[in-house]
Amino acid sequence: MSARGQLNAAGLHPKKRFGQNFLLDESLCIKIADLALSEAPEYIVEIGPGTGALTAALARDGCCVRALEIDRDLVALLRERSDLSSVDILEADALTYAWPESRFERWHVAGNLPYNIATPLLVTLSQLERGPQRIVAMIQKDVADRLLAAPGTASYGSLTVAVSNAMEIRRAFTLGPGAFYPRPKVDSTVIVLNRRARPLVEPIDPRLFEKVVRGSFAYRRKTLANSLSRSLSIERAEILVAMQAAGINEDERGERLDIDSFARLADALAGRGF
Ligand code: SAM
Repeated sequence: MSARGQLNAAGLHPKKRFGQNFLLDESLCIKIADLALSEAPEYIVEIGPGTGALTAALARDGCCVRALEIDRDLVALLRERSDLSSVDILEADALTYAWPESRFERWHVAGNLPYNIATPLLVTLSQLERGPQRIVAMIQKDVADRLLAAPGTASYGSLTVAVSNAMEIRRAFTLGPGAFYPRPKVDSTVIVLNRRARPLVEPIDPRLFEKVVRGSFAYRRKTLANSLSRSLSIERAEILVAMQAAGINEDERGERLDIDSFARLADALAGRGF
């Protein structure tokens, strides 16, 4: 039965606060599930199963699937479905979930993500110590553009750096609002993130690295030295010394730095005791 049909039969309506936009086309769910099931995961966690369209496609070949759904009405509806009896359906908030799946060698995450949790969730999953080897996620197209952005472009930012350090990211396909019920206001993109064998950079102090990256983008109209000095509360002269040690021009702007430069700069600051 369609998402709309299941909701109607249960006397439910899509909830905006949970970002509920249900996929209408079963063949799209199969396409997303194929991406998530490839490379033989031992375990798959689905975020936000909703009315179970993608869940059924993920569970079709007997792969172990756990589904995290925050909406208890939908949890009840999913638990009644005989075709999903093999799926472990948990009422849980994916943002506070403890990720015990980290004990698996090879586990994947899949989901048509609610727009309001996509960014923090992808950052958390990419930075987990034994995180998923692959994430297949439907997200807003503009968030996908930010994840895939190159240095020097308007979409490039701290999100790009935070996620791409551990994950190689590619765009699979983009869908218009007509693919969902109810229709969202924007286009959506399915992205595939594969864990790198090693992160691109391994800064001496990862927390300082994060602060440097965020601080570099905090005041986009200012030079890197001014933006960092202001956001980290460090004397501009100190920042300039560290930039010189990292081989960065003093009039450089944060949005033009690649991840290696951010790591060299953070290491130079760490070396000076910050
Ligand atoms: N997977 C379904 C589909 O594609 O038709 C539904 C996708 S809908 C965009 C997002 C789903 O995530 C909804 O079922 C919503 O209730 C659920 N959700 C929202 N916030 C959540 C959270 N923090 N943790 C777990 N699930 C959440």
